[in-house]
Amino acid sequence: MSLAESLLRDVAPAIRGVLEGALEGRELSRGDVETLLTAQGRDLQALCMVADAARREDAGDEVSYVICRNINFTNVCYVGCTYCGFSRHKHDPDAYDRGLDDMLERSREAVGRGASEVCIQGGIHPNKDGFWYRDIARAIRDEFPELHIHAFSPEEIDFGHRNSQGMELRDYLKMLRDAGLGTIPGTAAEILHDDVRRIVAPRKIMSGRWVEIVEAAHEVGLRSTSTIMYGHVEQPHHIAHHFDVIRELQKRTGGFTEFVPLGFIHHKTRLYREKGARPGATMPEDLQMIAIARLFLRPWITNIQMSWVKMGKKLAQVALNSGANDFGGTLMEESISNSAGSEHGDHIDPEEIERLVREVGRTPYERTTTYGRRTPAWLSRPDSETAPEVRPSAPETLPVHANS
Ligand code: SF4
Repeated sequence: MSLAESLLRDVAPAIRGVLEGALEGRELSRGDVETLLTAQGRDLQALCMVADAARREDAGDEVSYVICRNINFTNVCYVGCTYCGFSRHKHDPDAYDRGLDDMLERSREAVGRGASEVCIQGGIHPNKDGFWYRDIARAIRDEFPELHIHAFSPEEIDFGHRNSQGMELRDYLKMLRDAGLGTIPGTAAEILHDDVRRIVAPRKIMSGRWVEIVEAAHEVGLRSTSTIMYGHVEQPHHIAHHFDVIRELQKRTGGFTEFVPLGFIHHKTRLYREKGARPGATMPEDLQMIAIARLFLRPWITNIQMSWVKMGKKLAQVALNSGANDFGGTLMEESISNSAGSEHGDHIDPEEIERLVREVGRTPYERTTTYGRRTPAWLSRPDSETAPEVRPSAPETLPVHANS
């Protein structure tokens, strides 16, 4: 009996047909995505097993992770996305707006704890101009030239570009790159279908502008991650469309380093309370998205990351057997999901990542932001008694972006 036959015995014919095609190396279609999104029970197990086999072929048995620190520099934002539990009006008592000294201190702490990357994002603060992002990148690069600066979502770049005194988009991006920006997060994508964006983020950039910014960033040498936020109001055809937009863009630029499915955290959001969203992503949806990402995006994107913040650590381990090959980052501070009600914490030690990976029979390794191999700095860093403490990112009321 062939591998395909043994994996696909008793699977629903429509799903079996798609999975057989995937095992033969056929590029999946949008219709195939919609078919796979119906997979439950035995069919879902088969989907995950096939994605796991594809993962082994694409990325081997190693699992990568990055030691990084998130820095959310302001929660003041006027955009008003309905899925966001993070943003505040500038006069709210728990609003914050960190200056360069604060960000440098947090970067120093990150370096002290072995980080190779800082991930910097914030709300869209109406009083800033387009050169604030340049100043942040330059200040951190000048002080910590070895630290990779992964920063500024397409939404932030849109804001900065519109407030840059008439610069061309590519020139604006080159200015950020030359100031020290290394890569950009592919967040603010949510679902790249404007019917969904008009509900979840009506005042955010629409999908055409997101693609324009990310494509321009790739063209000037700023690679990015790619993401999807699912489990709210979207339908299967929206997800299929989103996957297709990402794959087509990758075919044009090759600039995506990875794809990261992000389940919607619903608890404290208007999208759930007022806009009829589902109560977040389910466990089957989490696994479907990891597995479908693996099968649909190959061979164009071969790094599929699961989010332990959204899924929790045990489901993250299951995701490693369902198509994922990357564990993401240590974060040290993750206020976006927490402010939307995530219960899975804001920091994980590299030692714990390594343990979780080994527990499922795989081999961990520390990577750089762009998937190079890094000598594990944490092995030689000071022990926890002498390493600088990571300060809590804000008071208990910690706000922050929701979700993406
Ligand atoms: S998700 Fe980001 S852009 Fe949207 S309201 Fe929240 S902070 Fe602002």
